[in-house]
Amino acid sequence: MSGNAGLFELTAHELSGLLASGEVSAREALAAVYERIDEVEEEVHAYLLLTREVAEAQAREIDERRARKDRLPPLAGVPLAIKDIYCTKGLETTCGSRILKGFVPPYDADVVERCRRAGLVFVGKTNMDEFAMGSSTENSAFGATRNPWDLDRVPGGSSGGSAAATAGSEAILAMGTDTGGSIRQPASFCGVVGLKPTYGRVSRYGVIAFASSLDQVGPITKDVRDCALMMNVLAGHDPRDSTSIDAPTPDYTEALLPEVNGLRLGLVKEFMEYQGRGVDAEVADAIRAAMDRFRELGAECDEVSLPHLNYSIPVYYIIAPAEASSNLARYDGVQYGHRSPEDGADIIEMYSRTRDEGFGAEVKRRIMLGTYALSAGYYDAYYLKASQVRRLIRRDFDRAFERFDVLVGATSPTVAFRLGEKTDDPLAMYLSDVCTIPVNMGGLPGLSIPCGFSAEGLPIGLQLVGKPLAEETLLRAAYAFEQSTDYQRRRAHPIEERAGRRSAVGRA
Ligand code: GLN
Repeated sequence: MSGNAGLFELTAHELSGLLASGEVSAREALAAVYERIDEVEEEVHAYLLLTREVAEAQAREIDERRARKDRLPPLAGVPLAIKDIYCTKGLETTCGSRILKGFVPPYDADVVERCRRAGLVFVGKTNMDEFAMGSSTENSAFGATRNPWDLDRVPGGSSGGSAAATAGSEAILAMGTDTGGSIRQPASFCGVVGLKPTYGRVSRYGVIAFASSLDQVGPITKDVRDCALMMNVLAGHDPRDSTSIDAPTPDYTEALLPEVNGLRLGLVKEFMEYQGRGVDAEVADAIRAAMDRFRELGAECDEVSLPHLNYSIPVYYIIAPAEASSNLARYDGVQYGHRSPEDGADIIEMYSRTRDEGFGAEVKRRIMLGTYALSAGYYDAYYLKASQVRRLIRRDFDRAFERFDVLVGATSPTVAFRLGEKTDDPLAMYLSDVCTIPVNMGGLPGLSIPCGFSAEGLPIGLQLVGKPLAEETLLRAAYAFEQSTDYQRRRAHPIEERAGRRSAVGRA
């Protein structure tokens, strides 16, 4: 087994080739990933739960089926990390919250069922900001995740565990969710590929709800081909989700062409600055260099302004908390997870103690904001107004898509920031998603791909945004770009990073 140690650094399509040819067994691949986890997880803390027994049984079954010469799906035997927001039958699901501690779902989310059918092997449940509220994974009730590129920095959030697991080779690929940037922003901070599909393209059935009109499921992977392969698994109609789109699903790998001839790319001004303040210079430089690269690859590039995007953050922080306050009303100590002791308390006191002890500060802040915004007399002034502005944001996108096939900009205004740097300043934290939130407002597909590194060696993400259901266009553009660079081939090395940190005594 020891000869397979490097297997954990492979992409899913590389590994699936070795699995299909019989050079490597699913059990060996899994053992290599767990060896890696044993080495680095203590530093990175990407996982809330490791599901070794389940994974070993899944891997064994794949190996047996392969030995019987069964026809297996392309990703059969590939180790997958699952954000702890997905209901997984028989496996504890906490959503990063104390209030769901001990909750074992009796059913699988639609996408989890799809992953099982695809033969993916479940390594574990990944850490996340509580109820997916956050941009750094520091809001997890169970401790922060660290960025495998620099252990003093955040991996982004809320899907920080999934992004760190993928970037640190503690999984071959992962799943996240994205309400305002939670797939793309951590993918950007961790130097991996993250796709938020069109709202409704992937089922939300069994995904713990945050803001239902914005939430969407998607893959976090080491490269673009893996992203396409994972979309083949995840996408599709689900009658159990009333917002699920009933449209045929393509083979996303067919979009992977090495050129973008004639593709019209628009660099969005508002993805490069917010209220007059530009994104970090290193980020801006990398994005502009990426535009030049696209030009060389045959794309037509121009700039465009979508002025209503300037309202995205205020609109989001009305709509998302309003929906969250309603979705989170169900956690009352009766139906799920944690219940505070009732000694002498009546039911109202039990509810309020449970919620007071069970929810963290950010979740409480959002529940209060949302309840206020929805209350009688304020609804028109806040929620209704925000919904109207949201419509204007979508209209800006629709107009821009008359001239462009893909809109481009930064994924996040900065590279990964330091742990603790923004925890005392929620508004500064909220600005991490200034470039990603508008895309959720419009229900559009958005993809983040590595497009360079800062002087300190931290990954920079490029965001590509498409028309509804134009995931293939995004994958095509991202693939052509990726093939012309080597950013996605670099891997984070948390062990060396840790050793460096220990030896750099007295480093500021
Ligand atoms: N960071 C944003 C928030 O805190 C978005 C989170 C998400 O996409 N789930 O709400």
